[in-house]
Amino acid sequence: MAKSNVTQFAEELKLPVTLLIEQLQAAGVKKKAGDDAITEQDKTRLLDYLREMHGNKEEKKKITLTRKQTTEIKKSDATGKARTIQVEVRKKRTFVKVDKPEVAPEPAKPVPPPAPIINEVEARKRETEARRQAELASRQAAEAETKAKRVIKKKADEAAEAAPVVPTPAPEAEPSKKKRVIRKKGEDMATEAEAPVLVEVKVEAPKVDAPVGAAPAAAAPEGTLHRPVLKPGEKADKKGPKRAARPASAWVDDQARRRGIKTRGDTSGGRDGWRSRAGGRHRDEEGGTSFSAPSEPKVLEVPIPETISVGDLAHKMSVKAAEVIKVMMKMGTMVTINQVIDQDTAMIVVSEMGHTPKLAKLDDPESFLVESAANDGASHETRPPVVTVMGHVDHGKTSLLDAIRKARVAVGEAGGITQHIGAYHVETPRGVITFLDTPGHEAFTAMRARGSQVTDIVVLVVAADDGVMPQTIEAIHHAKAAKVPVVVAVNKIDKPEANPQRIKQELLAHEVVAEEFGGEVQFVEVSAKTGQGIDRLLESLQLQSEVLELKAPVNAPARGVVIESRLDKGRGPVATVLVMSGTLRKGDVVLAGAVFGRVRAMNDENGKAISEAGPAIPVEIQGLQDVARAGDDIMTLSDERKAREIALFRQGKYRDVKLAKLQAAKLENVFDQLAEGAKPLALIIKADVQGSYEGLAHALTKLSTEEVKVNIVHSAVGGITESDINLALASKAVVIGFNTRADAAARKLAEHSGVDIRYYTIIYDAVDDVKAAIGGMLSPERKETILGVVEVRNVFKISKVGTVAGCMVTDGLVRRASSVRLVRGGVVVHVGELDSLKRFKEDVREVKSGFECGLSLKNYNDVQVGDQLEVFEVVEVARTLA
Ligand code: GDP
Repeated sequence: MAKSNVTQFAEELKLPVTLLIEQLQAAGVKKKAGDDAITEQDKTRLLDYLREMHGNKEEKKKITLTRKQTTEIKKSDATGKARTIQVEVRKKRTFVKVDKPEVAPEPAKPVPPPAPIINEVEARKRETEARRQAELASRQAAEAETKAKRVIKKKADEAAEAAPVVPTPAPEAEPSKKKRVIRKKGEDMATEAEAPVLVEVKVEAPKVDAPVGAAPAAAAPEGTLHRPVLKPGEKADKKGPKRAARPASAWVDDQARRRGIKTRGDTSGGRDGWRSRAGGRHRDEEGGTSFSAPSEPKVLEVPIPETISVGDLAHKMSVKAAEVIKVMMKMGTMVTINQVIDQDTAMIVVSEMGHTPKLAKLDDPESFLVESAANDGASHETRPPVVTVMGHVDHGKTSLLDAIRKARVAVGEAGGITQHIGAYHVETPRGVITFLDTPGHEAFTAMRARGSQVTDIVVLVVAADDGVMPQTIEAIHHAKAAKVPVVVAVNKIDKPEANPQRIKQELLAHEVVAEEFGGEVQFVEVSAKTGQGIDRLLESLQLQSEVLELKAPVNAPARGVVIESRLDKGRGPVATVLVMSGTLRKGDVVLAGAVFGRVRAMNDENGKAISEAGPAIPVEIQGLQDVARAGDDIMTLSDERKAREIALFRQGKYRDVKLAKLQAAKLENVFDQLAEGAKPLALIIKADVQGSYEGLAHALTKLSTEEVKVNIVHSAVGGITESDINLALASKAVVIGFNTRADAAARKLAEHSGVDIRYYTIIYDAVDDVKAAIGGMLSPERKETILGVVEVRNVFKISKVGTVAGCMVTDGLVRRASSVRLVRGGVVVHVGELDSLKRFKEDVREVKSGFECGLSLKNYNDVQVGDQLEVFEVVEVARTLA
């Protein structure tokens, strides 16, 4: 190219001459005017200069562009939310930085820009991978947890700890955020994420590579920024996780972090989690994450006995007693650690604490019986029979028992029989026989009523000169109800008027059939007076015993029955115990009903100290803490504490529980009993005359259907006695009083034991009721409440008015509107209503016990001195069979 001047060159370049001169000067070419010649060399210098300048400027522009782009994206990104502005601010900052990039290090940095981007992608990949692994780990942990609930804590911890090894704790925190961030941001994520990285990280760029978490940590805040206010910088960083923390994941976050820091944090976290959940119990929450594993409350099946102390209950749930106390406090009950709470409360507490309560009968003596029965399954050996003597009064029961003792026990005993402890045993050539030394039906039925069948054989004493009498028949009924075989002792055979044959025939009518009549009952003629036939009687008893094949374990914990019990001035509580199975030893811990103790001393019926007693051997023991009840079960326990616990427990609640269980038959319960697969409808009939009970028994027996068999356990003439109630209790029978009433003792016992007594005056009423019960169609129950008893002391016959009785209220009270039952000699002679009730000629509404009163009966004038008036009210109660 030819030489040219500056102006020409300026024209070529389309630049003002002055600018060109400036540039040329800057490039070091000294030109001052447009006419100055410009050489090729000058041009090259200028070009070089410009290139150099240009290169720098281009770089600056690039940076600026990047910034601008970011801003634009931000804007479009923020269509929905105006807060993007703040992101722009950040870009501006970038701008400021970019403004000084001539500094040396800057050009070095441009290298990283692509790097962070790549790193970002990689980081994200790794995050995703980490997330997957974390999720996998959590799933595995969750599975492990459900599979092995007991071991969960460890397993899940291990699993969870093992999993995050690769991604480090932080990514753990990511999944929840990331999911949202990534999906929401989608494409912008790349730019957006890189923007701050570019800008701020430019300085920190090296970090990006190292912890993957760093990038997400920066990105995450932005993700969340879309929602709430984003404050720049560290604030966003802090808030980020918090925001993300709103649902379950937050919790996971914390945990993950804690895990990263300290291992024990898990458990504490777990417990927190549990606690926070304890209220609402959102168990589902934890299903998804591995970190909730330790917090899964272990649902235990907690057996709850009828009573339990707070401490024990806590122990069973593997929590501190304080926890239980707290829960109970919330329930409004203040308890102490040693306080014993009842089953119902304990069940509520257990379910409140997230466990499953299970009814247990640990304190139920039956469970012990079962336990020991299982224990002593081994060696059952033949045991002596236990015999009870029954019969009509004055037929010689006591005499016979004495005669047997004399005949056998006295042998070799200096001083002979010295003691009466309620039972004794005799040795016969064929073995030992044990007699219960309390003749009569009461002892027999009382024990049966309490559930202990002690007697193996009944000796029915019938005086040969007297024959079968009412109590003879009653005894037969008792024996039959208890399914105990009878051996008849025809006593007083020494008497000239004795007629044993007549006895056999009379008993035939009561289904006690002698062998010679083709039956199985042994009849032995004896004389308690002369001792005649005693040996034969013992032989018969042995024979009967052999037939029964009585067996009991010997080497086992003792079980037995308290026959008698009393408080001895010198020795404290003493009890006669009949060991039924096992062996009772001195020093044994025993539990007798609601009384416990340790056998301090043991005597036989002769007052001789012994150290052990086997089956069917009666002994008198000392060492019980209190007087036991006759008829109570007694058993040895290995643990004195347990014995005390149960005894205390029984003293409280158990009696009621037992009583409830003993709830005798009620007419209205017949159907319930049927549902339980129960027995026939058992009835005891007491009537004023023989014709009544025979007629009633006949009519009622005829009501038997295929499902319900009416079984008359006992029927007799006379008032209802304690013995009848005991029999009813033992045989779950309903007592029917036909024109008779229960005496005070019987009434009390019936009330106490829940025996149903029904009074009737018309056979058809009784028949209708029983029929209805069988058919399940009972009409509303007429519930009778006895208000009181009034005794007639004087009788005044007043013309026009009728008979007025001067009375004394001996029990309860009498009301004017009440009904009365007039009882004379145990038999109801009239049922009606009061006509008038006065005190000192004044009409009154009621008179209480201990006061006198005058009264007259409606339409009845035959009131006699000595009559008793049972005052009662009848309320109709709708029947509820369910
Ligand atoms: P329990 O009421 O059944 O206990 O009868 P007891 O044993 O009290 O006897 C009543 C009465 O009958 C007493 O006076 C006895 O002496 C008398 N007794 C008892 N057994 C015999 C006997 O075998 N022969 C005679 N002759 N009298 C007897």
